[in-house]
Amino acid sequence: MRGFRGVSYNIAGSLYGRVDAVKSDALGESCLVTCADDSGYAYVRSGSLLEGVFLKRSWHAHERMHLSVGDVICLSSDGRLIVEYSAGSRDNVFCVTDRCNHRCIMCPQHVVISGGAVDRYAECCRVARLVEDSSPLVGITGGEPLIAPDKFVGLVETCLDSNANWSFQVLTNATACADYQLAKQLAGYLKGRAVFCVPIYSDSASVHDQIVGSHGGLWKATLGVHHLACEGIDTEIRTVLLSHNMHRFRSLVEFICKNFPFAGHVALMGQEMIANARINMDRVWVEPSEYGGVLVDAVELLDDSRINVSIYNIPLCMLPENLWKYASRSISEWKVVHAEKCSECSVRSECCGIFFSNLKYVEKYVVPIRS
Ligand code: SF4
Repeated sequence: MRGFRGVSYNIAGSLYGRVDAVKSDALGESCLVTCADDSGYAYVRSGSLLEGVFLKRSWHAHERMHLSVGDVICLSSDGRLIVEYSAGSRDNVFCVTDRCNHRCIMCPQHVVISGGAVDRYAECCRVARLVEDSSPLVGITGGEPLIAPDKFVGLVETCLDSNANWSFQVLTNATACADYQLAKQLAGYLKGRAVFCVPIYSDSASVHDQIVGSHGGLWKATLGVHHLACEGIDTEIRTVLLSHNMHRFRSLVEFICKNFPFAGHVALMGQEMIANARINMDRVWVEPSEYGGVLVDAVELLDDSRINVSIYNIPLCMLPENLWKYASRSISEWKVVHAEKCSECSVRSECCGIFFSNLKYVEKYVVPIRS
């Protein structure tokens, strides 16, 4: 989600709207925004100020920035402009809550367990109603998006009421779907139009449960994935390379092959060093030099089992070359950076780059590829 700082004029609270016209000139860019609340308009200007227009609802930043027709934005009275939905992008995310029933040791989100938690299901509904893409795709995440099942269903209903072509990628720990009735209810809306991406961190219940900070976590997640699959919902298994699971990574992959042979995809992921991951770095971090062989073995096993596999969040120069074809450009545009040395690299356009939060830890491993 991109955000900008500027000055708001005549805006109270939060104002949601869709960019319906963009005009660039030599000194900046002007946008006409159709507002959600009253179908009136607001005006966004970046670059040099134009006289007169700030009598109405408007926002201005001196620094030039770009919005596209179809972007859905939120303007706040305190001068923030957040791009809540980028038109035509496949990276859009609805972050519906910061509540979670797990407390993962390497969680890259700022999750609130109790007190002061913020739900954003209603705000995401407002955004969804404004989206005009013909086939919108959105990731639904949190916290745990199924922590409030009724609100989750309400959001999905709102999306599909406004456009039947929505599709979804739901990032969930799936423990709520240990309740078969919920899996069944979700299938009524989402079968054929959603992939549920579920993290499984170890084949050992004690190790998985220690990582997620919840007793019974592995059992409930496994049951949840099976219930979703029984109801015909597409599933993906995700795991993260951690010091906790490295010593038995092969056992984890065997567990995945045996218990989730129906999974459409398995993602093997590098860590994002932010929030809990940063706080617990001493306990969770694995140096890139340590996981090459582990990944070769894991990918071979999944391939042999005819399960689609990808590697996320690991730059090509930190992977054995025979794994490059499995590496995905998985890091969202607004989180990715490159090292200075990357400018000399011949595979830069195929590389996922580096999380901005990881750069200082992995820069020493960056070795430009020269063809
Ligand atoms: S040098 Fe940079 S662009 Fe090239 S593979 Fe490494 S991280 Fe990616």
